[in-house]
Amino acid sequence: DIIRVYDRDNNLYTEELDKRNELRQYVIDNFENAFKQRYFQVYYQKEIRAVTRKVCGYEALARWLDPQYGIISPAVFIEVLESVHLIHRLDIYMIDQVCSDLRDDIDSGYEVEPISVNLSRLDFELCDIMSEIDKCRAKYDIPKELLHIEVTESAIAAGADFLGKHIKKFRDAGYEVWMDDFGAGYSSFNNLKDYDFDVVKIDMGFLREFETNQKSRIILASIVNMAKELGIHTLAEGVETEEQYEFLLKIGCEKMQGYLFGKPKPVSEFVRSADCSSENCEEFDFSSYYDD
Ligand code: C2E
Ligand code: MG
Ligand code: MG
Ligand code: MG
Repeated sequence: DIIRVYDRDNNLYTEELDKRNELRQYVIDNFENAFKQRYFQVYYQKEIRAVTRKVCGYEALARWLDPQYGIISPAVFIEVLESVHLIHRLDIYMIDQVCSDLRDDIDSGYEVEPISVNLSRLDFELCDIMSEIDKCRAKYDIPKELLHIEVTESAIAAGADFLGKHIKKFRDAGYEVWMDDFGAGYSSFNNLKDYDFDVVKIDMGFLREFETNQKSRIILASIVNMAKELGIHTLAEGVETEEQYEFLLKIGCEKMQGYLFGKPKPVSEFVRSADCSSENCEEFDFSSYYDD
């Protein structure tokens, strides 16, 4: 007889799952060393303005470049770092690197665009994240306008009152606060009503069903419309095809991000030249070892 073992989420325990658990355990055992050896690196992904298709910012995304496993995805290690209450160490490290990269660009005379950084809801509990961010900015003399804070919608759902206070504090201090992954999981329009977000990042889930599901297109158009009426800017995540781009442009989505315009990559791979903001800019090909 075959013994079938299921995990907590009722998934059949397969070899794949085995590998995931092995990787998870590896992450648990090695994150201290990863900090020490500086295995964490900031990757940047372009955000473009829909109408002009020009870069209007970047999102900073964490990668763990491991000598044994290659590139370890944040989908694995963020959750682990949250569970051991050390996520703020990574996020502060990321913000420090982002500020350092911004300083290099400013000093080199490049026209710099703002960078969005992802915060975990635990960052607000584990430390005074705003003063940590202010410290990083002071260290490299970076104005707050160049850092945008992303908070996922699920984080807000998990602790509305508590997080609401922090979001307000950041906005009162002059930071732009963006809602990440809107429409994934248990979204609530109340979140758009109760908190003042500058930008809502629309989850890529709707775009993944773009061709096959007319309902997804209707929902996308409705979200963009509603956000506009509420005075919130919109950015669509996960744009991969010209058809998706054309549709989003047509419904009035203001900003976009996705593989169509460029995959996340380390700062060293960006071609720094006068016209590097155009989509014709040469891309480093990550496909061979990218984790997605
Ligand atoms: P996110 O903030 O929603 O970031 C967008 C994710 O979508 C990134 O995954 C990005 O690589 C991926 N993506 C971008 N364009 C496309 C596309 O066209 N198609 C597809 N299929 N995917 C696309 P990534 O880098 O694996 O990050 C996953 C999540 O991990 C992020 O989702 C964010 O919530 C979290 N994360 C990443 N870096 C950090 C960090 O430094 N701190 C914290 N707290 N969380 C982070
Ligand atoms: Mg994000
Ligand atoms: Mg997102
Ligand atoms: Mg996401």
